[in-house]
Amino acid sequence: NTFAEIDLGEALNQNIQRCKYVKPTPVQRYAIPISLSGRDLMACAQTGSGKTAAFCFPIISGIMREQYVQKPRVARTAFPLALILSPTRELSCQIHDEAKKFSYQTGVKVVVAYGGAPITQQLRELERGVDILVATPGRLVDLLERARVSLQMIRYLALDEADRMLDMGFEPQIRKIVEQMDMPPPGMRQTLLFSATFPKEIQRLASDFLSSYVFLAV
Ligand code: AMP
Repeated sequence: NTFAEIDLGEALNQNIQRCKYVKPTPVQRYAIPISLSGRDLMACAQTGSGKTAAFCFPIISGIMREQYVQKPRVARTAFPLALILSPTRELSCQIHDEAKKFSYQTGVKVVVAYGGAPITQQLRELERGVDILVATPGRLVDLLERARVSLQMIRYLALDEADRMLDMGFEPQIRKIVEQMDMPPPGMRQTLLFSATFPKEIQRLASDFLSSYVFLAV
């Protein structure tokens, strides 16, 4: 009934306390244990339901647990371990802000990349190393085409507001992105899909991207 009861790791639990989160929201209460168990997840979640933490906590906790945290280094191509896709610049920045608070002093590095803004600053950030990349689909495709990001190391993929991304016409970009993660050698990717609605298009996305997933509607 409290975050302290969920085994997210010491550092993350401290950050959760610092954010004054005590009790998980309904979506967090079910999505976090499912994600920690390693299962793929398709979750019904509205704005304001606490979905950001629902996918950020297991990702941060997983990266820390597996000691995958990269040392800061300068490299032309960035190899994030987790990717969070979101439809807009605003939402991406919100997720980035929250994820940074949650990963404070964990060594997990979060970087955001979105379109409609100069790419130079984002490239500089990426060069310094990234564990969790928060991105809009169009800008990420651009970064992939420039070979400034590789998705070969991705262990966690979260799709936030998937229905909105499809409404905005991002399906081709999303498919292109996910295809790159499926290139050999086969990765061990866990996928978390969050959406407010579940039309056929989302169900098709889920059956294409997720494997033996849990469906959560709270
Ligand atoms: P979200 O649905 O992720 O956009 O979250 C909505 C708002 O609720 C954000 O301002 C979060 O910081 C806040 N929030 C999320 N989870 C909790 C929680 N368990 N306890 C208190 N506030 C929360």
